[in-house]
Order: sequence, then structure tokens, then C-alpha cells
Amino acid sequence: MARVLAVANQKGGVAKTTTVASLGAALVARGRSVLIVDLDPQACLTFSLGHDPDKLASSVHDVLIGEADVDDVLVDTADGMTLLPATIDLAGAEALLLMRPGREHALRRALTAVAERFDYIFIDCPPSLGVLTLNGLTAADAVMVPLQCETLAHRGVGQLLRTVEEVQSITNPSLRMLGVLPTLYDARTTHSRDVLADVSDRYGMPVLAPPIPRTVRFAEASASGATVLAGRKNKGAAAYRELAGNLLAHWEDGAEPVTLSAAEI
Ligand code: ADP
Ligand code: MG
Repeated sequence: MARVLAVANQKGGVAKTTTVASLGAALVARGRSVLIVDLDPQACLTFSLGHDPDKLASSVHDVLIGEADVDDVLVDTADGMTLLPATIDLAGAEALLLMRPGREHALRRALTAVAERFDYIFIDCPPSLGVLTLNGLTAADAVMVPLQCETLAHRGVGQLLRTVEEVQSITNPSLRMLGVLPTLYDARTTHSRDVLADVSDRYGMPVLAPPIPRTVRFAEASASGATVLAGRKNKGAAAYRELAGNLLAHWEDGAEPVTLSAAEI
């Protein structure tokens, strides 16, 4: 059965989509089978991996409202992942799902049909805490929170943690908080470190290692249809590869997740 990780933060631009694509590609490079799920109506994950959302006949939207089977919607990506794509229709799924009982469970139910075939499923949540993110969290075994280390980055974290707690008590008691992933990190500024230390103190959240450095390659990658791991060597890709190795050791060998201690931040 696939292990399912939701990547969530209601703030946009914190590298959720980049993290899902890069981690997925890093695990494929290590021989694992990976399904990635685009739960954002803006369909950035789908688009960045070379699929034009306007040209797709069906998407995760049709799956969530019960009008398509997951298998009929999956597409391949250049990096060797399988993608459950999004289209702008997904914006309407919020409203359609709201009228249905069990609305938070639609994705979980749909993924059970394919979970046997993948080692890992990564869910790219939209920048909101609405019914789509609730579906992502309800379908997941664990949640990771990318956090851009800038002023006020912590402001949404409390609200996100409350949502996670609600999901744990209502729709998915086995959901685990894996931790915060520092993204767009600039180790030269004490500011990035202050923000991380603050989040770690204030919320007692584990801070996953390594932090993902800010590098110019990411913008180039998302224009190319492949992930940053396909390009030339760069620090960002190396960090995602290291993170993938740390997570595999945790998931497959039972090691504790590698985190930054307060002293290392
Ligand atoms: P989200 O999904 O949280 O909205 P994205 O993954 O789309 O965030 O990233 C937002 C922007 O930041 C994108 O333009 C992406 O290319 C860029 N980006 C992500 N990670 C990095 C990084 N480590 N260095 C530089 N730019 C990055
Ligand atoms: Mg995104």
C-alpha cells in the first residue's frame, strides 16, 4: 500500500508544488513508484510537468465528484512519475462537494483504487484550508508544511495546525504531522534562521532537514516541463535528493525523521 504524504500550507508561493514535484522525482530516481496528485485549481503542478490543463479531457475534479475512475485520468510525466492532474474545473469541485455527505473522504476513497500500485503518493494541496485541502489531509498518512522563512511566515501556521488537529479528531485519526520544511532558505541571513527558530519554539513543530536553498534554477525548471532534478547540478536539487534520502530512511527503515535542532537553526 502506498504511503500518502500531503504537502500543505494555505499560504501560496511557499514551494508546495515544487516540493511535491522534486521529492517525487527524487524518489523515482531511487527506484520507487510515485503518484502525485494536483489538488490546486490553478493546476501549477500539472502545467509545470508538461501537461496543458486546458487540453485534458478529465481531471481529479471528475474523480472527486464521482464522474471518472482514477485510472482513466492518470497521465505520465517526463520524470517517470504518474500524475493525477488538475484543471480549472476543480474550482467548482469545492461547491459541488460541499453539498455531499462524506465530502472530506472523496479523495481517500478514490485513491484506494490505485494505492496498491504505488510506493508513494504525494498530494499538492491548494493555498487554502477549504474542502480540497481537507480531502488531501483526510487521504494522507502524514502532512508536511513547507515554510518560506520570511517575516510573518508563522502567521498562518497556528490556523493550519488547528485544521490538522480537527482532521485528526474527525476524519483521519491516523494523520501525522511530519514537520515544517524550510524553503526558499537563505542561510546567509540570520533572518531566515530567526523565523525558523520562532516557528519551532512557538508551535513545537519538528523542522525537517535539510532546508531547501533559494536557487534560480527552480523558475527555469517550471518553464521546461520537467522538475529541477532533471536539470544541471544545483543546490536545490541536491537538497531535495538529500531530503528524499532522509524520508526513505524514516519510512522504510524506521529511522527518526532528520530534523534541525534548536542549536542548528
Ligand atoms: P506553492 O505551490 O506553495 O504556491 P511553488 O512551488 O509554486 O509554491 O513555488 C512558488 C515560486 O517559487 C515558483 O515560481 C517556484 O519556481 C519558486 N521556487 C520554489 N522553490 C524555490 C527555490 N528553492 N528557489 C527559488 N525559487 C523557488
Ligand atoms: Mg502550488
